[in-house]
Amino acid sequence: MCGIVGAIATRDVTPILVTGLKRLEYRGYDSAGLARFSPGQPIERIRRLGKVQALEQAVNDSQGQGTIGIAHTRWATHGAPSEINAHPHMSADSIAVVHNGIIENHDALRQQLQQAGYEFVSETDTEVVAHLIHRELQTHNDLLKAVKAATAQLHGAFALGVISQHHPDEIIATRQGSPLVVGLGLGENFIASDQLALLLVTTRFIFLEEGDIARIGRDAIQIEDVSGNRVERPVKAYTGSDSVADKGEYRHYMLKEIFEQPTAIRSTLEGRCQSDALDVSIFGDQAADIFPQVKAIQIIACGTSYHAGLVAKYWFEAIAGVHCSVEVASEFRYRTTVTQPDTLFVTISQSGETADTLAALRDSKGYLASLAVCNVPTSSLVRESAMAFLTKAGPEIGVASTKAFTTQLVGLFMLMVAIGRYKHITSEQEKQLLQSLRQLPELVQTTLQLNLPIQDMAEQFAEKHHALFLGRGIQYPIALEGALKLKEISYIHAEAYPAGELKHGPLALVDNDMPVVTVAPSDTLLEKLKSNLHEVRARGGQLFVFQDVDAAMTSEDDVFVLDVPRVCPELAPVVYTIPLQLLSY
Ligand code: GLU
Repeated sequence: MCGIVGAIATRDVTPILVTGLKRLEYRGYDSAGLARFSPGQPIERIRRLGKVQALEQAVNDSQGQGTIGIAHTRWATHGAPSEINAHPHMSADSIAVVHNGIIENHDALRQQLQQAGYEFVSETDTEVVAHLIHRELQTHNDLLKAVKAATAQLHGAFALGVISQHHPDEIIATRQGSPLVVGLGLGENFIASDQLALLLVTTRFIFLEEGDIARIGRDAIQIEDVSGNRVERPVKAYTGSDSVADKGEYRHYMLKEIFEQPTAIRSTLEGRCQSDALDVSIFGDQAADIFPQVKAIQIIACGTSYHAGLVAKYWFEAIAGVHCSVEVASEFRYRTTVTQPDTLFVTISQSGETADTLAALRDSKGYLASLAVCNVPTSSLVRESAMAFLTKAGPEIGVASTKAFTTQLVGLFMLMVAIGRYKHITSEQEKQLLQSLRQLPELVQTTLQLNLPIQDMAEQFAEKHHALFLGRGIQYPIALEGALKLKEISYIHAEAYPAGELKHGPLALVDNDMPVVTVAPSDTLLEKLKSNLHEVRARGGQLFVFQDVDAAMTSEDDVFVLDVPRVCPELAPVVYTIPLQLLSY
């Protein structure tokens, strides 16, 4: 899912489109394109494989202009990355469409449209949308109505921006399962998949809701909700700083965000954790009523957020004495499940727009209440949940989640304390847990000093193709997260195992080419973990160990040991995440 920008004005919108796309580049993409025109002129489309810079060059060379336009960065899902498959997609040279998401029934629609005489030039799922709108325009002659009739035939997730040569005074925007915002200007208006794209032209936004369709004119915006009713959506002013889209002194957003973690955790704790007892209203007005009734927790999330959920399971069961299940959203939503009574439904998502997680929330039935742990207050997940904990990580630009993960852990820890006080947690214990939590920003700050020794350690990794990550107990999800980061960032294949499972198969893979990374705080499982590490050494495996001094392992040939600051066992997962982030970076 990649980027959309659109603009309608009385001036040339080309610079707005190109700058907007550049500001979305952090999301990663494989090609870029735009379509623009001015009333009375034909639509001009320019697309390029690769960087927005290549598109910008082509746009500059073309010397064209347009007062209305849409633009896109593509992350291919259907059809290889190529100029032909890049968006916008067009029908009859008069309709242009940009799309984020996936049209699941594109095959069937393609066949229908081909039978009706439409010729397809790309391999994308998106092209069906352009032709459908063209076909619907024959009967509706109103662009909004035609887009609505077309999207009614689509299954899947989409955010769409649509322009038509014969409707020069409007952009139609609609969303279902992918985010889209409308930016408000004076005599000009905009759309984008992320408000960051538009911060140079406006700070006032309307967040479209699920199923909304909007007619964006130069002076007016008309929105219909999913049932076809005209609605007014609130205008929200962007209050954050624009510097988020700036890497500052850092080489990459990921590194900047790794180093922002002490501040992000501090902001997440601020005003919520000063005293010896939590004020449960930080989770919402209903929390005081709901929390005493909670008998079990069901956590649903994807990717890194899922790993945060797995850590929370250990906390809920070991400290709070509350049963907790955790499942990835894309599995949970498609299977038949049994809801236990008095279960709180907890979702975790940085953006609050993760399609599978949102769908799982919407399908959830019979739960006591829902609660979202999320970084974006205006997101669908927060709006549609009964309660929420907002992590204050600030915008996360890096594609690999770092500060969102550690602040999610902080939020889940507080949730565990807030629910546990009605179960196993005494007020004395609550006081101690909160005291430990307040020390976390300092501890993370100290841990970041490992950056340099970890750079040396990473040299050993440069030529490897595979790695194993081992953890035990509450460190197992951290090993999973470490392996995910390494795959995502370095393209080195990595798997995580609970260390005790090593002997049930994966040990066969261990040799000098299979580095083994492990997180080893001196907790109750340390001796067992050490036995597993002996098994690795016996097979000539290189070891990379993050421990605290009390774990007392020492570096030797092919064993690289780094000391992480001492931390209480409950919060060790947060601290041990840091070296794994740095290693993968
Ligand atoms: N599914 C569309 C394609 O492959 C859109 C991908 C995107 O969201 O960038 O072209």
